[in-house]
Amino acid sequence: MSRLSKFVDFMRQEGIDRFLVTNITNIRYLSGFTGSTACLVVTPSGATLITDFRYREQAEGEVWRGVEVKVDKRDALAAAIDFMGDSGGRIGFEALSLTYGSHRKVSDTLKAELIPFDDAVERLRRRKDDNEIATIKKAVEIADAVFAEVVKEIAPGLTEVDVAARIDFLLRKKSKEVPAFDTIVASGPHASLPHACPTTRVIAEGDLVKMDFGAIWDGYRSDLTRTVVIGRASDMVREVYSIVLGANQRAISAIKAGMKASEADAIARSYIESKGYGDNFGHSLGHGVGLEVHEAPRLSSKNDSVLEAGNVVTIEPGIYIPGWGGIRIEDVVVIGEDGRTVLTSAPKELVEVGC
Ligand code: ZN
Ligand code: ZN
Repeated sequence: MSRLSKFVDFMRQEGIDRFLVTNITNIRYLSGFTGSTACLVVTPSGATLITDFRYREQAEGEVWRGVEVKVDKRDALAAAIDFMGDSGGRIGFEALSLTYGSHRKVSDTLKAELIPFDDAVERLRRRKDDNEIATIKKAVEIADAVFAEVVKEIAPGLTEVDVAARIDFLLRKKSKEVPAFDTIVASGPHASLPHACPTTRVIAEGDLVKMDFGAIWDGYRSDLTRTVVIGRASDMVREVYSIVLGANQRAISAIKAGMKASEADAIARSYIESKGYGDNFGHSLGHGVGLEVHEAPRLSSKNDSVLEAGNVVTIEPGIYIPGWGGIRIEDVVVIGEDGRTVLTSAPKELVEVGC
């Protein structure tokens, strides 16, 4: 069953006559269009992609069966309003994407009842098919290959920015794409910031260096974190590293279809708590990854939604100690009907650079 037919089924169940899709990632997911400006109007008989002249040729070449392309001189929303027409009924829209101003334009022009949805398309995107999983795997392999090269080059005297620039260069060369998100390189005490921006701090002997980056392949993303130490690891680095690795491995061996997202988070969290570092693991265990680097399902203590086969998630516990540094180990995992498959193959044993 195609994505579009699944979506039309959903509309039927919800009693929606037309659905206005404005989130560009969701438009890509449903239509195949990879440009940056469009609206997609879905009706029970198919979908119409409304875009402008810049994208005419691209859109006609990209869209899947069942999707028509309409090129309009006006902005995509004005053209979509006109296309939907004033025939009343119920129009679904994406509450997290349609701005207040755009909503007002639709409601001022059309008599139809406007029905908001938070995750109408996102709920389909949670379950990846084999083709999507193979594409994510390729993005994971690129990031793994970049790590393998960078770990050989990293050395005292380089700045965080130097290392990040090298990672970004290699990602671009290997994927022919921009990085999946802003690369994180954080060294020494700076590594205690979970989402640090690379600075001109010079990497020195004894530093932890935390690197978090990802590749894009055919629109799908990967997400990899590895933390290495420059020179010989101290006892404290060894201890904290082994706890983070233990949490990562425990969560990976336990995660499965049928489990609540919050239960997966609890496995890693309770282990880190049992070792006395509960206060130093302040973020959630992981997140879904696909066309976006952060998507459903979130593996957080607050998310009680049930994991299903086809979910692709990161497992990324970390321990962050102000003034000392931080360690995170992040892998991408596919949840199967029976068990799970780890896509990441970058080594996880502690690397002592230069030893
Ligand atoms: Zn990451
Ligand atoms: Zn992540």
